Amino acid sequence: MKSHDGMYIDGDWRPAVGTDTIEVVNPADERVIGSVPAGTALDVDTAVRAARAALPGWAATAPADRAARIAALRDALVARREEIAETVVAELGSTLSFARNVQTALPIAVAGSYAELAASHPFEERVGNSTVLHEPVGVVGAITPWNYPLHQIVAKVAPALAAGCTVVLKPAEDAPLVAQLFAEAVHEAQLPAGVFNLVTGLGPVAGQAVAEHPGVDLLSFTGSTVVGKQIGATAGAAVKRVALELGGKSANVILPGADVAKAVKVGVANVFANSGQTCSAWTRMLVHADQYEEAVELAIVAAAKYVPGDPLHPDTRVGPVVSARQRDRVCRYIDRGIAEGARVVVGGPSAPDGQDRGYYVRPTVFADVTPEMTIAQEEIFGPVLSILKYADEDDALRIANDTVYGLAGAVWAADEATAVAFARRMDTGQVDINGGRFNPLAPFGGYKQSGVGRELGAHGLAEYLQTKSLQF
Ligand code: NAD
Repeated sequence: MKSHDGMYIDGDWRPAVGTDTIEVVNPADERVIGSVPAGTALDVDTAVRAARAALPGWAATAPADRAARIAALRDALVARREEIAETVVAELGSTLSFARNVQTALPIAVAGSYAELAASHPFEERVGNSTVLHEPVGVVGAITPWNYPLHQIVAKVAPALAAGCTVVLKPAEDAPLVAQLFAEAVHEAQLPAGVFNLVTGLGPVAGQAVAEHPGVDLLSFTGSTVVGKQIGATAGAAVKRVALELGGKSANVILPGADVAKAVKVGVANVFANSGQTCSAWTRMLVHADQYEEAVELAIVAAAKYVPGDPLHPDTRVGPVVSARQRDRVCRYIDRGIAEGARVVVGGPSAPDGQDRGYYVRPTVFADVTPEMTIAQEEIFGPVLSILKYADEDDALRIANDTVYGLAGAVWAADEATAVAFARRMDTGQVDINGGRFNPLAPFGGYKQSGVGRELGAHGLAEYLQTKSLQF
């Protein structure tokens, strides 16, 4: 894999201040595939200064010209499509088809959407005797996780650029190579120097330096709730704008009368996609008592198709998880589920057969899960599905809403009206109705401890704008 030994700052690849590096490991075979510099607070400072210097020029650039640069960035990503997909497979372990169809196609679509929104967004509006100006917030510090490494970057950088902000990105240390490819695309799209800057490094060092830098006006963080709380506190102390996209424990509610076979099949696929490393995954399946055993049997059949294997093999549906740390964490949760009395009907904590190298876990389905169990409350971030039983609709709603999270969810019912009525009562930011497709223009974000703010579409753009009103 190609990797740069510098950081992309002020329009060029520059050597890091220190000499420490971070090795990037392929989770499918544990081989080192590259290394990136481990940035320090000094590198972050250089990047923030570059972003601040570039801010007045970029903020004053006409929206149509910003749109043209974002469109060029989208085109540069399209030109690297296969390289991006292969990089995501190599550093994360996504299957090749998922890397192509989701990990690469989604950020390209999102970049395209912001090229259009930058051109069409009303950055000025009249309200009575006032003109309201929607102005860029300033320098954005973006901190992203590894699970959808390019999507998370584009979901922050594209709207920030559309708004007229400049950016310092600190990507996840487990998947930094695709961030370097993104910086190459930025360079090729001829964004002015300093508008986008990349500092690779460890979270508690480079990430924390971004969060604490007084020259950063807005922090946009996606990652764990634990770190998100720290970032929120840091931003609060400095009265700085903050957007947090955090964890989830989403419910897939199958109401009586729904197409159970379809709901279970789609639900299993949703949880096992990307080896379960999706913040919005429907990790809790809620089924009426009368259909519970039928749903468990259907889940067993559906899950049997997910045999962990080489992510490059065209038949593989589930690859490894990202790291040894993540594998051990997932296995600890599986052990915990067993200890608390849940019934393993597929998978389990032992390593999959024939996988002596690589960070593989067995896709696991638990039945007889009750709402207070750890596996029904905490985010596992691995291929683990919990199936819970409810007595009636009110009971289903109580269980669905009974976690600290509220990121996504699904409702299946005999008719749309019944599903929508239930979805309205759910404390969560996104609900798929009878298998509704993901919409990259719809706002994405959490209720409760799943986060603050929204990404994607016009709502995502608004996060990077502040308003000024002029009275006449
Ligand atoms: P993480 O919080 O450990 O890391 C996320 C990013 O924060 C990384 O870039 C990391 O280097 C950085 N970081 C770590 N400690 C830091 C600190 N003290 N200060 C500043 N930055 C720091 O999370 P992760 O393990 O990389 O990702 C998994 C988590 O992300 C899961 O909980 C998942 O639900 C969540 N997630 C949420 C969304 C969403 O949109 N809501 C999307 C993807 C992932």
